[in-house]
Amino acid sequence: MTISVPSRMLFIDGQWREPALKKRIPVINPSTEEVVGDIPAATSEDVEIAVDAARRALSRNNGKDWAYAPGATRAKYLRAIATKITERKPLLAKLEAIDCGKPLDEAAWDMDDVAGCFEYYADLAEQLDAKQNAPVSLPMDTFKSYVRKEPIGVVGLISPWNYPLLMATWKVAPALAAGCAAILKPSELASVTCLELADVCREVGLPAGVLNIVTGLGPEAGAPLVTHPHVDKIAFTGSSATGSKVMSAAAQLVKPVSLELGGKSPIVVFEDVDLDKAAEWTLFGCFWTNGQICSATSRLILHESIAVAFLDRLVKWSKNIKISDPLEEGCRLGPVVSGGQYEKILKFISTAKSEGATILCGGDRPKHLKKGFFVEPTIITDVNRSMQIWKEEVFGPVLCVKTFSSEEEAIELANDSPYGLGAAVISNDLERCDRVSRAIHAGIVWINCSQPCFTQAPWGGNKRSGFGRELGEWGLENYLSVKQVTQYISNDPWGWYQSPSKL
Ligand code: NAD
Repeated sequence: MTISVPSRMLFIDGQWREPALKKRIPVINPSTEEVVGDIPAATSEDVEIAVDAARRALSRNNGKDWAYAPGATRAKYLRAIATKITERKPLLAKLEAIDCGKPLDEAAWDMDDVAGCFEYYADLAEQLDAKQNAPVSLPMDTFKSYVRKEPIGVVGLISPWNYPLLMATWKVAPALAAGCAAILKPSELASVTCLELADVCREVGLPAGVLNIVTGLGPEAGAPLVTHPHVDKIAFTGSSATGSKVMSAAAQLVKPVSLELGGKSPIVVFEDVDLDKAAEWTLFGCFWTNGQICSATSRLILHESIAVAFLDRLVKWSKNIKISDPLEEGCRLGPVVSGGQYEKILKFISTAKSEGATILCGGDRPKHLKKGFFVEPTIITDVNRSMQIWKEEVFGPVLCVKTFSSEEEAIELANDSPYGLGAAVISNDLERCDRVSRAIHAGIVWINCSQPCFTQAPWGGNKRSGFGRELGEWGLENYLSVKQVTQYISNDPWGWYQSPSKL
């Protein structure tokens, strides 16, 4: 049965709006390769209108309607959005499964996280008022000084396809909580649920222009947002290559950017582990979400004394992972997002082979699936540090393995990467876990697990994985600007003119 996605337009100024050039981009279901609908393709003309709408939303009623409204006003809308997302969860989860190939169960968890994220930032919006006008202690009693946190203004939010609605929400919820007005540009490969978010915003009566959603290609709809002089900040999640382009374009206008980029994260497994538990975290850490996770722990750094027994388990269990249409019950691995991504992953695997690595399992399309962009869970050994598979992000279900003999060597291998997003350390020796967690250069370190992510905790990376942190209070700070207000409170004249010696 062919399932189609709702036909939507751009969402600008609280209304559906046809793109200026009337172009559309097909939506392809990655498990059937069928076209199941299309999304509007915005260009710079549409971005211009969206930015105008956002600016008007901020200045309406002198900002009292949104930017400088009490936090409780904004919180009310965020909570209403959360409620509607929960009501629509079954549909939204299904749409993500069709749009990007995510197993239905995982897509449903994501929708819970989306609703939870809106709720969380509703609380933070309310708490923001009490934190305003925080006094600053000064060395002179003739002055008083305090700090206000104000919304940065109009923000451009550019998101990827691997968690389509969740990655967008990590930006939209704190931006709105802070009092910004936003233009969201989701990935052209998976925009369907972001357009459903637009419908939710319309339904809850979010003030016009506060959130605008323009779908389209990166260079046509994303780039004009970055270079628009009336967009005050860009928050970007995507590949390091695009992040670098975004940063250099924003630099021309000295525009602030926060960047959540790619990774090649290590998982270090010591000799004292429970093999079964460690094997499950290793597989989950790399193959969850079809391996398309920015923080995927895709470099296994394994103590040599347990290598044979551990790899035996990984191979046996990998072969038992259910690979199917994401809507099928029990699916654990669906297709990767697109034909382009499928080809790219197979090329990574063939290059690893030609460079001398061994494909321990997987490495191809599963035999039982004739259509769709499916890739078997793949484990690669005999890897050396000069190989592409060790150095570059694959963004698919591919794990590469290197062994070590000492803690120093494990740390050195873990840090042998231009990226620094996540890392996992598995050992029963918690002191050792603590030591290693300090020594690894990454924004997130998991101990005795891999990948759990909480709305309350900071998320982001170092080195080529970007800078800035999303989620938690750090996520809200991304959209706030700190203003110093200093007042002269003495009754005496300042005295510069009359008695220069006072200065
Ligand atoms: P991508 O870089 O191809 O695209 C990301 C977004 O940028 C898309 O919306 C795209 O349309 C837009 N874009 C493309 N060119 C642009 C330009 N010139 N100007 C402005 N916008 C432009 O990334 P992707 O393939 O969608 O996502 C996968 C990547 O995202 C992986 O590298 C992954 O590691 C990374 N990612 C990182 C995190 C994190 O939290 N660090 C989370 C999810 C994904």
